[in-house]
Amino acid sequence: MSPKLKILCIEDNPVNWRLVQRLLGQAGYDLHWAEEGLQGYQMAVELKPALVLLDINLPGLSGFEVATKLRQNADLNGIPIIALTAKTMKIDRETALVSGCDGYISKPIDPFQFTAQVEAYLGGQRDKVDQGREGVVLRQFSQQIVEHLEARLKEAQGSNRKLQEAQEALEIRNRNLSRLLALSQSMVAEPDPRSLLARIIGRAQEDLGLRMLHAFRVQADGGYFEGQRWTENGIEMTPPVRGDHVLPTRLKSVMNEGPLFGENLLQSPYWDPGMALGLWGQPSQSLLLPMPHRQVEGELWGFWTLSREADRPFLPFEVELVALIGGLAQVSLQNAELIFSLSESSRALASSYEIVESAYMEVHQAQAALSLRERQAILGDLFQKMTKRLQAPVSTLQIQSSALDEMEQGSGEWKHSVAQIRDSVGQIASLVKALTRRVGKQDNARPEWIHLDDLLTQELELMSIEGHLGDRGLRLEIGAKEAKVFGIYEDFSETVAQMVRHALGGPTPSPSLLVRTTMAGGRYHLEIEDEGGPIPPDGLSHAFEPFSGLREDPSEEDLVLGVRKPGPGLPSCLQLMSSYQAAMELRNIGEGTYLDLSLQLDPEAV
Ligand code: MN
Repeated sequence: MSPKLKILCIEDNPVNWRLVQRLLGQAGYDLHWAEEGLQGYQMAVELKPALVLLDINLPGLSGFEVATKLRQNADLNGIPIIALTAKTMKIDRETALVSGCDGYISKPIDPFQFTAQVEAYLGGQRDKVDQGREGVVLRQFSQQIVEHLEARLKEAQGSNRKLQEAQEALEIRNRNLSRLLALSQSMVAEPDPRSLLARIIGRAQEDLGLRMLHAFRVQADGGYFEGQRWTENGIEMTPPVRGDHVLPTRLKSVMNEGPLFGENLLQSPYWDPGMALGLWGQPSQSLLLPMPHRQVEGELWGFWTLSREADRPFLPFEVELVALIGGLAQVSLQNAELIFSLSESSRALASSYEIVESAYMEVHQAQAALSLRERQAILGDLFQKMTKRLQAPVSTLQIQSSALDEMEQGSGEWKHSVAQIRDSVGQIASLVKALTRRVGKQDNARPEWIHLDDLLTQELELMSIEGHLGDRGLRLEIGAKEAKVFGIYEDFSETVAQMVRHALGGPTPSPSLLVRTTMAGGRYHLEIEDEGGPIPPDGLSHAFEPFSGLREDPSEEDLVLGVRKPGPGLPSCLQLMSSYQAAMELRNIGEGTYLDLSLQLDPEAV
């Protein structure tokens, strides 16, 4: 079987195309479709069809022009081009022939004759222009081409002008954006919110040639909007707008839709209330920019209103610029406030440290001035005074740091500062807690979770402040961080104090102490090693018995040899700790003794 003959149909009307396709497809031809002239030309070059059906009324190049173009390509010589023309005028049929077509079929297509008409042309039929008419038709066709070209030229000039305008608008927009960038960079260094806003407003006025600009911002309690305005006389405060005023209330529902301007603003429910507030004058071009809250969903943070001459409508890139400047103002103001709040916090922190320092100074002075017997009572009073004075700054700091947390913006430096403040607050707070307990003024008998290493550190610090450790070297090795026990704080603080007193006892003052905590086999150990001399075997075996302190004192010879008795508080330690399943051990080691307290911890509490 010979391959089907290809027919290319260049036709913009799909209804006509489907009719051609059906009629010629049934007759056994291979149909191809191009919707417009240049595409048709390209397909003809690629397909080399047996025949081209060419609609005359085409978008872009007319059918006549397509025929001329097809005829200029030598590769397509001999392919019949048949015009499909709705025009009944003789001149159009003639123009088709002059422009390069070999014949024409009138539209509407006659389905009973169409295939036969096409096959006649395939069989060699060619139509001719009447003798002597050719010159006239050619001139007319040339005329048509010139007119078409002129129209195209005008069109091109028009789009070129539009392109130039767009280019200029783009340049202005770019210029505005880079100025805005420079402004935003300089804002970082501006600490005062009011002058910061004034600078941004001034820039907006300058860039947009405004006659009036109002910038409103909600107050912390949401009760009213405070405003500043730029007028020809400079920047001044405006009367506040109530939080429940109709303008901001209505604005909430559309605040995420961007700025309103021009006719849209004029027809909106915001125009009249704004006019009543004097936010725009008439006749003018105005713009209303709502600013949603960045932290609180669904809340209005503020709004700007802008006005300028009636003959200067806001262009799209200017609307974009307003939104950007507004956003810059909002972010800059919030940053300035954050920085302000941060420096407030650090001031509060500094003053609380001063208070701590001066309180310690008082303690030291009192120590120097008082006799040993009076010391305990007076110290108690001082500690109490000191803790009362500490409580206020600590709670201030805690409030500050939680306020800072809420405003958190995510920058690394910011988080670092907040973490430092929080750390310092934690240190002061735990010291206050320890002091309060020390003077026995607060809830000592209530069981709670106790961090053993915190307690140990605090006790040793306080004993050192009170002068019990003298100038001994103290080595502290915390190996059981996080160990916690549920119990009564004072049981443990008393035990630690008695254990240290034991280690400090003896005729030769121990030059140094080693205090160590470890975890071994699920048990927590607090170990103290001293260098204060050994204890005879008899003393060791009775060290934890009640009233062991009443036993015989070491003999003169023993004292000469540097031996000593166990600490008198050890029996009461064991008694206190017995309710915590504790074990205690005392033995001689090196130049002194080794004292160990071990506790079985609840595994979940470690
Ligand atoms: Mn058409």
